[in-house]
Amino acid sequence: MRPTCATVRLDAIAENYRLACRRAPGSQSMAVIKANAYGHGMVAVARRLESIAPAFAVALIDEAVELRQAGIQAPVLVMQGVKEPAEFELAAAENFWLMLHQSQQVETLLSLKLQTPVNVWIKLDTGMHRLGVAVVDMDDIYRRLDSSANVRGQPVLCTHLACADELDRPFTDQQVQIIRRFGNSLEVPLSIANSAGILHWPQSHAAWNRPGIMLYGSSPTATPGDSADGLQAAMTMQSEIIAVRDVAPGEGVGYGLDWTAERPSKIGTVAIGYGDGYPRHAPSGTPVLVNGQRVPLTGRVSMDAIGVDLTDTPGVEIGDPVELWGENLPVNEIAAAAGTISYEILAGLTGRVPLVHR
Ligand SMILES: *Cc1c(COP(=O)(O)O)cnc(C)c1O
Repeated sequence: MRPTCATVRLDAIAENYRLACRRAPGSQSMAVIKANAYGHGMVAVARRLESIAPAFAVALIDEAVELRQAGIQAPVLVMQGVKEPAEFELAAAENFWLMLHQSQQVETLLSLKLQTPVNVWIKLDTGMHRLGVAVVDMDDIYRRLDSSANVRGQPVLCTHLACADELDRPFTDQQVQIIRRFGNSLEVPLSIANSAGILHWPQSHAAWNRPGIMLYGSSPTATPGDSADGLQAAMTMQSEIIAVRDVAPGEGVGYGLDWTAERPSKIGTVAIGYGDGYPRHAPSGTPVLVNGQRVPLTGRVSMDAIGVDLTDTPGVEIGDPVELWGENLPVNEIAAAAGTISYEILAGLTGRVPLVHR
């Protein structure tokens, strides 16, 4: 079998979840497990957190259905809500909570006669201008939903922070102030904080927090090499050396022969590539751990393989273990080198990488 796999430490995710709760003791925290739990395996993560998390959050109703089919019984917040009448019925029957972000969803829900009422969150656009009802429409929408027989209990009012990972920008405070004004006037429970809010903006902590990336051990703000806010990396992406060769000065390596040897070099080939989700834009020099030692990526990333320069790391042989990111090499560091964010790398694992849950 191909040696490439992603090992996932479910206990690390549980520890990171507990840390999210400790950092915001006045809030309840729902575990965000959309996009296959950021690549970590949604059902396995939900099973591990079921006994400690009061609710889960996903983006799509299909993800919520998959959780129910796997036997997960906790409430599941569907953060893009739904559109079709039948989906509202399904959500009500399955105890999916619906985040409604625009007035068409609201009008559809109000026009139905649901057999069971559904839990509703109303998303307010406090400045990100992606999803959410406008501030001017909020009072009206809230009152109509709050008095609707289709809505169970009091709606929760929520918003999403646009730049909470940038600690020197005052915009987060503005967003918090806007939603808190409604929170006070309507006396409604609020939900504001994502991971960055939980870790760095205590004023964003509210009735419900929504930690995502931090559960997987990647800090939303920490720069490479940082202590990563005390989080533990959950996923270790690993592979093996499958070839080692000598390359003479002036010879190139990989597609386009982009990397050229300047000295007699020893080049290893690792069985991973962008077909697995290793970022294709990672440049030569991106760190790779071979036998626990850092070596530089060499040449372009191919679909099934990458090269590494082993010239300064003697003794490496075929079959030696390689870590691409994980417990010993922060995914934030790889993301920074490749010009992206950890979210994209983790959620971008492809289906051909086996997930091994520990
Ligand atoms: C994905 C998502 C989150 C989690 O954000 P992190 O930065 O991963 O903590 C929270 N709220 C909403 C609406 C989201 O879409």
